[in-house]
This record gives sequence, C-alpha cells and structure tokens, in this order.
Amino acid sequence: MNTKVIKIDSDNIDEKSMQEAGDLIAAGELVAFPTETVYGLGGDALDPKAAEKIYKAKGRPSDNPLIVHISKFEDLEYIAKDVPASARKLADKFWPGPLTMIVQKNEKVPYATTGGMETVAIRMPNSKIALDLIRKSGKLIAAPSANTSGRPSPTEAHHVAEDLDGKIAMIVDGGSVGIGIESTIVDLTEKKPMILRPGYITPEMLSEVLGEEVVIDPGIIAADDTKKPKAPGMKYKHYAPKASMILVEGEQSKVINKINELADEKSKDGKKVAVIATEETKSMYRTDVILSIGSRQDEDSIARHLYKILRECDDMDVEAIYSESFKTPRIGNAIMNRLLKAAGHQVIHV
Ligand code: AMP
Ligand code: MG
Repeated sequence: MNTKVIKIDSDNIDEKSMQEAGDLIAAGELVAFPTETVYGLGGDALDPKAAEKIYKAKGRPSDNPLIVHISKFEDLEYIAKDVPASARKLADKFWPGPLTMIVQKNEKVPYATTGGMETVAIRMPNSKIALDLIRKSGKLIAAPSANTSGRPSPTEAHHVAEDLDGKIAMIVDGGSVGIGIESTIVDLTEKKPMILRPGYITPEMLSEVLGEEVVIDPGIIAADDTKKPKAPGMKYKHYAPKASMILVEGEQSKVINKINELADEKSKDGKKVAVIATEETKSMYRTDVILSIGSRQDEDSIARHLYKILRECDDMDVEAIYSESFKTPRIGNAIMNRLLKAAGHQVIHV
C-alpha cells in the first residue's frame, strides 16, 4: 500500500486535505494523526474490521484494547453502558486533554476494539487536528500510539513513517506533539477511581476534582511480575529501544561518576554507548554519544523528548544506554514509568 503523507498546519487547517483523511477513516482505512500526547493510529472504532487492521499494522497483541477518541461528551454517552457522575466531572475539567477514562461499554462497541473486555477506554484529545479529523470522519476513532508494537511511541510524523510506511493509507503530519507521553488512564469502573497508567494528569489533580481518593493500580508499581497490571498494555515491555538500558539514581555527582565509570567500561569492550543526560549535566560526561533529554528546570521538556531520544539511540545503533533518573516533582512518576519499562527495570542506586 502507498502511504500518503499530508502536512497540516493546526492554526490553518486545510479543509480539503482533512476531509480526505476523514473519508479514509469512514471507508474503514487507517490514518495516523497527531494528538497532544503522541501520534495515534486511527481507524473507525465501531468497525471490527478497522480494529483488526490496526492490530495487524502495529503487530499488536489483539488482547490489548484500543482507546476510542471522541470530539464531544455525547460520544461517550453514545458508547457507554452508563455514565458515572465522576466521568462528567472529570470531562468538565480535563477534556479535551490527556486523560483517558474507562467505563462499561454498550453493545455498539465491538469486542475487537476492547480486546474482548466489557469496558471501553475513551478520550477527547486536545488537538485541533485530531478533533477535526474525528468530526470530518463522522466516526469515533480508535487510536493506539502509531508505532510498531514494542518501539518507542512516535512524537513526530517521521517516527510514524519509520514504523508504518506502506502499511497504512495516510499520515497526517502536524509537526511535533506537545506533551510527548501517553495519556493518564483512570478506571471509573472500580470502587475507587484507579490510575492504570500515569501521565501528565496526576492522581492529585483527579482527586481534587472528584473530592475522593484516587488509587494507583498496584500492578504498575510492582517492579516484578507478582501483580498483573489491569491495563493489558502495561504488562508488555514496550517503549523499548534496541539497546540494553540501565538507569542510575541517587545524588547527582555520584550518578555522574557512576555513569562515566560504567560507560568507560562498556566502551573498552568495543560497544557503542550513549548517555542520557540533562542540559544541566551534559558537559560532565565523556562518552561519544551524549543526549540531553531536557532541563530539570522544565520537567515537561523531559517528557517531550523522551521517546525521540530512545529512537535516536536506535538510529545510531547504540548498544548500551546509561541514563540519569528523573523523579521530577509533578510528572516524574509518568516519566519514570516509561523509562523503567524501556530499561526493563534495570536500576542502579548510588
Ligand atoms: P496505547 O493507546 O497504545 O497507548 O495503549 C492504550 C492503553 O490503554 C493500553 O495499555 C491498553 O491496555 C489500555 N486500555 C485500553 N482499553 C482498556 C480497558 N478497557 N481496560 C483497561 N485498559 C485499557
Ligand atoms: Mg502504545
């Protein structure tokens, strides 16, 4: 299949091109598009054949459900069995935005989209292009991240092309995304609202709006396999670069010394080594490849560059990655959740 790439300026959307993208979705084809979190691979959420195409293009296990993207709250009412009061409150505050809610599904949602589950994940993205695509398609759009399963999520259109060129009908290139890590997922079908995937919207922010405690799925905190995460996708070691990766955490000067020591050893073995540092520390390393992920003064910059940097390591055929750890104040949990997975939970404390 020939994958058509169209460039769209979100401040001046070309109606004709976007309608072409919408028509492809309506015809059951797949279109990758930017959201504020990462690029999504979209297909008609209520068409089981489109869902199957998504799994096939990504090489994604079919038990890993898709998030349904909507453009208005009534779309949630249309596919939910019942609408919890908490969903309204959270939508008022955080939609459109990087929050996915899990509710009971009704019969309109095929099991192909939900990986066989009775619940459905729903999000209204805060991206003019994404919202326009949903409206123009006249459909609800199921969209997982637009990467090959197992690779870092795409934050730029060329990342999508690297993974999916020739496998999907179209890529809408809307430039770099703003947030860079996937949405927070909150499950509203439990007794207490439960975070299944940490993201830009924190448990504290949710708790403040709901006026009740928000718990975190014990399965995503455990570093071992003793507890299964409730979101099927969280059990896979994805977000992973090809290189082996080790995180070093502790006091900054000790971290730098340890990373330099480990990197020297690996380089002596003839391996290609990369260090993931920050604007503040990048001059303190001596490896060939030193990648600055962002500034510790601006934790959003760290989230925004994370996947891009992991992809760069792949592009340079890096064999070993040593990274600083980023337990930043607000979204540190979300960042570390991705990094720990990328590193297969290999952490050294100094
Ligand atoms: P992705 O869109 O590729 O970033 O992944 C979507 C994530 O949402 C995966 O981790 C899924 O397992 C999770 N998810 C989607 N639907 C549900 C659901 N009904 N229940 C629990 N987790 C879900
Ligand atoms: Mg994904």
